[in-house]
Amino acid sequence: MNLLKHCKDFRLMHLHLLALSFACVLADFELTAEYLSDLKADEALEIAAGEYNYDNQGNDWTGTCASGQKQSPIDLIYDDADVVSIPRIRFQNYNQQLQTPLVLVNNGHTANMVLPPTRRGERASISGGLLPGVFEAQSVHFHWGSANSKGSEHAINFERYDVEMHIVHKNTRYANLSVGEASAFSDGLAVLGVMFRARPRPISQHYGLNKVFNALPRIIPYQSNTTITGMFNVGQLLGNIVTGEFYTYQGSLTTPDCAESVTWTVFKDVLDYPNAQIAKLWNLQDSRSRPLINTYRELQDINNRTISFRQL
Ligand SMILES: [Zn+2]
Repeated sequence: MNLLKHCKDFRLMHLHLLALSFACVLADFELTAEYLSDLKADEALEIAAGEYNYDNQGNDWTGTCASGQKQSPIDLIYDDADVVSIPRIRFQNYNQQLQTPLVLVNNGHTANMVLPPTRRGERASISGGLLPGVFEAQSVHFHWGSANSKGSEHAINFERYDVEMHIVHKNTRYANLSVGEASAFSDGLAVLGVMFRARPRPISQHYGLNKVFNALPRIIPYQSNTTITGMFNVGQLLGNIVTGEFYTYQGSLTTPDCAESVTWTVFKDVLDYPNAQIAKLWNLQDSRSRPLINTYRELQDINNRTISFRQL
């Protein structure tokens, strides 16, 4: 058995990962047992979701996706929102370097990166806003359109954006549960949504995001993965957006099983990002070897939910 090869393609080895009590050592870096365990849990969640695709923007998904009354995404409309006094989002350890390497995976639905703890051992976390607790960063992924369509999931005042990034967090009160298990609870998860607007020119300040997007050409086939090394912190994903203004509401995962477990925080400010980088997403392939494009779910009914807006 060639451990190096199996470490690189952890999917092939996922049945064996539970037996791995040691770090998976590669040529010039290592994945910790904790990170391997997180990768496995993330893969299990993907498998549990079953086969689904974006052919009908989710309108053919079943179960809670079809019957739920607190579904996401929605249109976030200022005139319909409660403009109220809300604490700002507090970011803890967002500026602390993460343990690396990070593994970026094409799981057939998105480019997904499980986030390890920081090098100090704590996780990046958020609190404040209308969050019911402290939530630790678990993973980041993206939703996008195509060369001629925008692909954000939420809309803001009837406007959709080119890309929407989701940073998925789990409530620390469910520290012993996986993300999938925590999604059984209405206060289980918190997702930060960041809109991207395509810009024609390169933009220099997105060092962390560029690391992720520059790795996309290495994960074009379904189930391929690659590693990102060097310095990286979760805060870099936010670029230079203003985080003091946001919409927040109770909703769901936007992929099956659409569990209604998410406190959503969607920032009003939009991150300008080069079109050439965004275009790398359109080259990814799904499990049918078709272009993975328009990876967004249709807008859902608000159903009398309160949408709150924090204004600066
Ligand atoms: Zn998402």
